[in-house]
Order: sequence, then structure tokens, then C-alpha cells
Amino acid sequence: MRCVVANWKMNLATQEARAFCDDLVGRIAPGPGIEVGIAPPFTLLHLVSGLLRPKGIQVFGQNGHAEPKGAFTGEVSMPQLRDAGCSGVLLGHSERRQFFGETDAALAKKVKAAWQWDLLPLLCIGETLEQRDAGRTLEVLGQQLSILGETGPGPLWVAYEPVWAIGTGRRAEAAQVQEAHAFIRAELNRLLPTGTYQVPILYGGSVTPESFPELLGLPEVAGGLVGGASLDPRKFAELVKQAS
Ligand code: PEP
Repeated sequence: MRCVVANWKMNLATQEARAFCDDLVGRIAPGPGIEVGIAPPFTLLHLVSGLLRPKGIQVFGQNGHAEPKGAFTGEVSMPQLRDAGCSGVLLGHSERRQFFGETDAALAKKVKAAWQWDLLPLLCIGETLEQRDAGRTLEVLGQQLSILGETGPGPLWVAYEPVWAIGTGRRAEAAQVQEAHAFIRAELNRLLPTGTYQVPILYGGSVTPESFPELLGLPEVAGGLVGGASLDPRKFAELVKQAS
């Protein structure tokens, strides 16, 4: 199965999102073998899910709190994401880890909470440039994945997103992607019982229609998590077509 997910981050308002969705549904009609998702800001979830879910496009939250409700000002819970039309949630995006202090311990709780509320977690992992330069890439990926030893198995997608490739225009090279994805697959096989759900591993980091076909040809690359290029419906539709 192929997966292409748009991460809109903190971009777009109502009219722009509506125009995007209207344009996108005129360009793609996801069929069997491909899952397409959009992760809009919270304020746009109702609108986007209303427009896209009837067309077979999934909607993801960009984050979710582990508690179902309570005194957590500024947060949104997993049942609230479901209520707004989400079928999944991004967890552990590097911007959440870097700027909002998201820890692996918190992420283990969030993954479990997502499952409890029937949301598909898309767990994002990746090394910083400093960690890569220090030869610690696989160690860091192993550490970030180790939360699955605590959560146990469940429906899950993983995105390998080298932090230095996100929003920089500097995509990881094929050999780097291949090494990371092979390692992630081996770790998933080690951590999760065999015969359970086959986890798709997506690549993220400056994906464009120019660079995506090469990545899709690599073993263990099931698709992409796309930031910048996902804000243009023409480019995003092109990525979906390449993966189809
Ligand atoms: C992302 O935000 O997950 C991402 C991969 O962004 P970009 O495609 O802009 O690098």
C-alpha cells in the first residue's frame, strides 16, 4: 500500500482551504492501493473533513493530547479529533519535538490514546544534522522507535523525516533514505510481534514532484509526508499520481 500525506502545518485559512479542497478533488480520486491524507490546522478540521472524506481522502490531526478531556488549555484531545472528522493523527513531528518539548515518554502515551479513540497514529522520527554528523542516526531512530516496546502493536504508520531535510529544500539522498528505512523495518520487526499489522514507512523532508519518483523506487519507501509542496494542490495531486 502507498500513502501520501500533506502536512499543512500552521498555514491556510478557511477560503484558501476550501479552494484547495475543491481543486484537489477535481485532480485525484484515490483508488485501491493508495491512501491519501491531509493534516490541516485544528481550525480547519471540520471544513476539510467535510469536503474530503466523502471523496476517500483521510484527515489527520497534527497533534493530539493523551488525556481525553480536562484542564489542558490550548490542547486538543483524541476524541475531539475524531469528532472533527479525523481518522488519524501525526505524532512526534520534529517541530513538536524541537519547539514544544515533545518527549518519547509523552509520545508513548499519545500513541496509546490514539488507538483507544480509533485514530491511526503517524509517528514521525528523524535525526538532526548534528546527530547525523556525529554518526548517531540509527541510534536516534532506534531510541525514538523504542516507545513501541511499551505501547505494543497496533495500526501505525511511521514517517522517517531527517530534521535537516524538513523545509530546507535539501532532500536526503537515496542511500541515506534506504539505510534508514531498512533499519526502521528491522526495528519494527524486532519490537512488534510478527504477523501483526505491516507498518508502512513514509519518507518526509523536502519531497517534490521532481524528487518523489526516485524515492518511491526504493525498498521500504511506502510514500511520503509532505510539507511545503502540499500547499499547492497541483503539486500535491502530482505526488499522489506518482504514488498511485
Ligand atoms: C514536514 O513538515 O513533515 C515536511 C516534510 O515538510 P517539507 O516537505 O516542507 O520538508
